[in-house]
Amino acid sequence: MGHKVWNDKKRFIWILTVLLLGAFVVTSGISYQVAHDSLSEQIEENTLPLTSDNIYSEIQHDLLKPIFISSLMAQDTFVRDWTLEQEQTPEKLVRYLKEIQDKYGTVTSFFVSESTRNYYHSSGVLKKIDDIDPNDAWYFRVRSLPKSEQYEVNIDQDTANRNRTVIYVNYKVFDFDGNFIGVTGVGLAVESVKKMIELYQTRYNRSVYFTDRQGNITLHSKDFAGGDTLQNTPGLEKLATRILTSPSASFSYQRDGKTIFLNSRLVTDFKWYLLVEQDETMGKQKLLTTFWANLGMSIFVTLAILLIANLTLGKYQRKLELMASTDKLTGAANRQAFEEYFSRSLARSVLDSTPMSVLLVDIDHFKSVNDQHGHNIGDLVIKTVSNMLKAELREQDLLCRWGGEEFLILLPNIDLSHACEIAELIRKSVAERRIHVNGCEINVTISSGVAEYRVTEKAEDVVNRADIALYQAKEQGRNRVVLSY
Ligand code: GH3
Ligand code: MG
Ligand code: MG
Repeated sequence: MGHKVWNDKKRFIWILTVLLLGAFVVTSGISYQVAHDSLSEQIEENTLPLTSDNIYSEIQHDLLKPIFISSLMAQDTFVRDWTLEQEQTPEKLVRYLKEIQDKYGTVTSFFVSESTRNYYHSSGVLKKIDDIDPNDAWYFRVRSLPKSEQYEVNIDQDTANRNRTVIYVNYKVFDFDGNFIGVTGVGLAVESVKKMIELYQTRYNRSVYFTDRQGNITLHSKDFAGGDTLQNTPGLEKLATRILTSPSASFSYQRDGKTIFLNSRLVTDFKWYLLVEQDETMGKQKLLTTFWANLGMSIFVTLAILLIANLTLGKYQRKLELMASTDKLTGAANRQAFEEYFSRSLARSVLDSTPMSVLLVDIDHFKSVNDQHGHNIGDLVIKTVSNMLKAELREQDLLCRWGGEEFLILLPNIDLSHACEIAELIRKSVAERRIHVNGCEINVTISSGVAEYRVTEKAEDVVNRADIALYQAKEQGRNRVVLSY
């Protein structure tokens, strides 16, 4: 029976393990899938636009300054008066341009006069603008800008130093009557703007670049992977038109087998598009980490539950087994448990050829105890006697409640004469004991039949012989021990 309980428990633990792990794996898997599906949406609709917003406002902050300075120069009454006064003493304007350049830390500052076509620079008068020189085309482009547009931002080689590229703000200058009298402005080193872009990139962990309205990629960091225009950047060819015709948009496209998320927006002050890109790997990595962490946690919880279940079941099982094998009143073994233990002890005794004895004990005239004191007190007396018997026994001996007030004691490794001594000891201690219950004093005696197992006999024979000996003890007047020879 114990075996069956144990098997049931094992099966239960297995089912529990499979159920828990299964449930955990399925929920983790589903939540991973759901998170993965919404990741793209999340990046495309939230994360990326937000980052793009941040970068946009930082760019506004960093790049609006040169536009602002150029606007101040274009409005400056000194510049306009000096131009209207026939550009006397060029040193004065040169000094003005130098001061602007130093004060605001720009790489260049300039003024081109419409009437003389002189190119004034912080280092002096550089040249005359020539309408057939392609290098000077920018001037005529700015001059012919529509009325509503005061300036343009243009990336070009530095007029004063052909080796470097400069982001120019070219601002139109008008006299007090609104007539066009020239173009002024400052320039920023492209290198410093690229550094700025790299700073955004590391800060936001995204790829950042700019295109002009035609799709030419104007500014990017060193590690930029695309082409020189949107139209010839792999994966973007088809999207270029859509990007260049809407003030802001979110896309995703495939590049090198990866999904790239792209957010574009028109930076109106520059007439450039700001493009912020991100690939899905970063988010995916996070998802995977979460997935494994979930799974790890699940396994931990499963193990904890199994441990608790195992302990609880073990405790429950032991309790059940104990309940099934012991007598409720005395806590002694019941007949069934005794038979199991008896056959095991018997086998060992045969194997090791060691002696084994049994003692059958019966309380004398117990009916009269019941009659005098009632059944409940009778029970208490049985319990007391059981405890007294138990106290005289060794660990390996087994006490069994054989019948109402009858006990069978198994004494492994003990021969007849030794068993007789033990029976005698028990008899005396019971006889001398005064049992106090409810203010009464009850004195009982016991009779015992003792038998040693013989290899030739069957298991029940030895008990029968003990029973016969017990009967003889009763016959001979009770409160005594009789041996079966
Ligand atoms: P004897 O000396 O011959 O053994 O006399 P006895 O009165 O003890 O006779 P016997 O052993 O034949 O009868 C035992 C009595 O014990 C019978 C029954 O009423 C009583 N008895 C049996 N089981 C219980 C029990 O669990 N509780 C109580 N209170 N009484 C029991
Ligand atoms: Mg009796
Ligand atoms: Mg009896």
